[in-house]
Parts: sequence; C-alpha cells; structure tokens
Amino acid sequence: MNETLTDPQPLSFEEALKKYEPVLGFEVHVELNTVSKMFSSAPNAFGDEPNSNVNEVDLGLPGTLPVVNGRAVESAIKLGLALNCSIAESCRFARKQYFYPDTPKNWQTSQYDEPIAYDGWLDVELDDGEIFRVEIERAHMEEDAGKLTHAGTSGRIQGADYSLVDYNRAGVPLIEIVTKPITGAGERAPEVARAYVSAIRDIVKALKISDARMERGNVRCDANVSLMPKGASRFGTRSETKNVNSLRAVEHAVTYEIRRHAGVLAAGGSIVQETRHWQETSRTTSPGRIKSDADDYRYFPEPDLVPIVTTEEWIETLRAELPEPPAERRRRLREAWGYSDAEFRDVVAAGLLDEIEQTVEQGASPAVARKWWMGELSRLANARETAPAELGVEPATIVELNQLIEDGKINDKIARQVLEYHLDGEGSPGQIVAQRGLEVVSDDGALTAAVEKAMAENPDVVEKVKGGKLKAIGALIGPVMKETKGQADAGKVRQIVLEKLGIEG
Ligand code: ADP
Ligand code: MG
Repeated sequence: MNETLTDPQPLSFEEALKKYEPVLGFEVHVELNTVSKMFSSAPNAFGDEPNSNVNEVDLGLPGTLPVVNGRAVESAIKLGLALNCSIAESCRFARKQYFYPDTPKNWQTSQYDEPIAYDGWLDVELDDGEIFRVEIERAHMEEDAGKLTHAGTSGRIQGADYSLVDYNRAGVPLIEIVTKPITGAGERAPEVARAYVSAIRDIVKALKISDARMERGNVRCDANVSLMPKGASRFGTRSETKNVNSLRAVEHAVTYEIRRHAGVLAAGGSIVQETRHWQETSRTTSPGRIKSDADDYRYFPEPDLVPIVTTEEWIETLRAELPEPPAERRRRLREAWGYSDAEFRDVVAAGLLDEIEQTVEQGASPAVARKWWMGELSRLANARETAPAELGVEPATIVELNQLIEDGKINDKIARQVLEYHLDGEGSPGQIVAQRGLEVVSDDGALTAAVEKAMAENPDVVEKVKGGKLKAIGALIGPVMKETKGQADAGKVRQIVLEKLGIEG
C-alpha cells in the first residue's frame, strides 16, 4: 500500500501531454429519487436515523423476494433516451458476487450482459463553446450499498477500532452510465471530464429522476485514465479513481492521474490496474485495491427477478415526456436574453435559469430579471445562508415589484426594503407599499419643503450648484431622502433645486 511513496515524481501536465495521449472512461452512478428502493418498499430517503429505512428484502433475509421498482425502470429508460441510447427490448438483472460489509446480501443486484440502455452518445460543451462527443457504452440499473462509518477515524467515537454500518442506503436505486473509451481529448482531457459529468448532472436534474446533489453523492463518478505514447493505438493500463463527487475534483483527479501515469511510464515503470482514492486536501490520488476482472464476480442471472420487457409504446410514451435537453435550452435562452457570455455563465452557476425564465415569461425584461435575481435576491439569500432560488420569492413578485418602480410609485431603494418586508411575510409588494405608506413623495408641497430645508442647511453645496457644478446636487439628495424617509423621487429633487436657483436643467 506504500506505492505512492515509491511512485516516481509526476511529470508536469504539459510534459505529460508532450509524450502521451490520454484515454478516459467514466462510470457515473446516479442515485434515483424514487419514493421507495430498487427492489423493496422501504423508503428511499436521505438523512434519516441510521437503519430506519430498512426492510427484510434490503437485509436479504431468507425467504424474501425482491420486486422491481417500476418508476426506477422508467427513469432508466428516460435517461437512456436522453443519452441517445438504444433501449433493450428485454433485459435481465444479474448478481455480482462480492463480499460487501455494507451489503447484507453479499451480492449486488445489477445488470451485466443485458443493460437496459446501450450504444448512445452525449455532446458536451467545453468552456470555449466547442462541442465534444462522448460515446456511451451502456446505462444499467443496480442498487446502492449501505454506508460504513469507521467510528474511530471518523472522529465519531474517540479511539474506537470498529466500524458502524447504516443500511438505509442499501437498495437505493442507481443507474450506472459507462462511457466507451474516450480518445482525442488531449490536453482538454480534464475539461472534457468536468463537462461530461456536469452534463450528466444537468440531464438527470432536468429529467427530475435524481436530486442530483453531488455533495450528497447523488451523482458520483469513477474516472478511468490511461496513457499511451503519442501516435500509438493500443491503450495503456488504466487506473480507476473511485467516487469522485464534485466537478472540480473530477477535473483535478484526471489531471493528477495523467501526471502520475506519465511519471511512472517515463521512468520505465508500468501502471498497476487498480482503483484509487481521490484526496481532496493534497489534490492527489492514493492506491485502493487491485482491480478484479469481471470473472471474479461470478455474475449470473438473478433468479428471483423476471426479465424486464419494454414495448415500443411504453418507450414512445416516455420519450414524449422528455424535457428539452439542458444544453439546447441554455443555447436558446442565452440567445433570447442577449446576456454577455460572462453574465449568462454567472446565471447558470447561480442555478437561476428557471427563476429568470419565469420572471421573463411573466413580463419582466431579461435585464430586469437578471438584475433582481443576481443582485438583491442573491444578496438576501447570502445573508440568510441559502440560495436565491430557495428564498421562496415568486417570479410574479419580482414582476410586481418592478412594475411599482416603473410606475414611479417607489424607487429602487424602497423596492429593496419592500423585498425584505416581503421575505418577512408582510404580503405582496403592492400590499406592503400601501400598508406601510411607502409611496414616493412626489407631491410638490412636502418635497419642496424638504428641498428648501436641505438647501438652507447646506449653503456651500448651493454655492457650488450656482457656480455651475450641477453634479453637486447629489449632495442635497441625501438630506432630502432622510427628511422624506427615503421616499423622495430623486429626479424631482433635482428639478426643484434647479427651479429654485433659476438654472435651466
Ligand atoms: P469496471 O467496472 O471494471 O471498471 P467498466 O467497463 O464498467 O469496467 O468501466 C471501465 C471504464 O473504463 C469504461 O468507461 C471504459 O470505457 C473505460 N476504459 C476501458 N479501458 C480503458 C483504458 N485503457 N483507458 C481508459 N479508460 C478505459
Ligand atoms: Mg467500475
């Protein structure tokens, strides 16, 4: 296990790519958000009391029989279709024999030679907009394992030398998507890796078949990397970095493995086919276990489950339910909204496409919708330690708020206050403005009085304005706002000042 110690120094990424061509392969596991588990009626829920969502099927008790979750099968078919795969007319489950301390049955029910979906592809968009096609080998259904907590090292129980097992996750439906070997990515290999996993995450989210939260392990990636000398066509030996669960980590793990392989190969060594673990703190990988060949698992068809037969009609019904592909939707919205690349990227990163789309649908301009969601709502969300989309502010509220500004009833500053009152549960923007009497003071009497007071108290400013420095009027707006509790119309203030001094505006 001290192989890392004896590994030669990794080459720099640039050096590595001068000598070698990377080949990649990804196995992405997607946890489905079905109500119950893959083969039992136990709840599929995250974060519950350990071992509370477990029944006799999950525990593999003698005499129990699994039943396939129909919703999970539909999710798999939809995902297969979204990945441009062929859907099997008939497919079976298989037992993958293995000693899993976190899986009481001691085999994983998976699919082997008969996956439900196969031979697809996915076009992923790289940072510069270029499209890279990734070929999909297969997408198959299986079940998740339970979760081990090593009591001592996890810090749960000081000095403990045992592990705790939580079977809540045992039997949670998974779809594993396996790519064909990816060649031709060259120096963009890490970028392709991130773009691919990100595209899968977007698709399962759009399909609503998974919560798609990588930090919870809903989407996790095993990244296979090998190198071959430039110009060669025979693939090198791969390493498989397991369960990488953030986009950044996927990118870094691929980068590191390319550098590590190159270091080993350039020093005349050979790569061991093994699994590896990603180490976030050092941004390196460490050796796991020597990789079994499929033979070792003694796969055989699951005798307790009947084959799944798909009909043309069923598949077409599901196909008709597919959402617009996320990448196409982004292209469409980017064009329609006319944002700059940077603006659009920020909106996507903030997860606000839906909110802005709905705000625009309900009548706001794309610029106004972006201003509120990326500006004030993001700020408020930040202060409340949540995401803007989670604040519970309806797009219609933003449209209403903006209308109040456009009608001259409130100014921007008051509007921001109204939003806070709204978040505190005071009702719609219109109601808040009426109840709190926030309408802009534009009736000339009150405003003129406030302006006169400000001018009297700031003779130096008045002198400047008289001398032609119209910009100095800004210094009077503050005091007027104070006097009117922020409800003055700044344009009007300026107009009154100019009138008083007999200056042409
Ligand atoms: P396993 O479960 O044993 O890891 P899979 O076939 O499920 O095997 O997944 C292996 C992944 O690695 C696939 O994405 C495959 O395309 C990819 N792959 C296979 N050979 C290589 C190689 N030499 N270099 C990089 N990736 C590879
Ligand atoms: Mg694998």
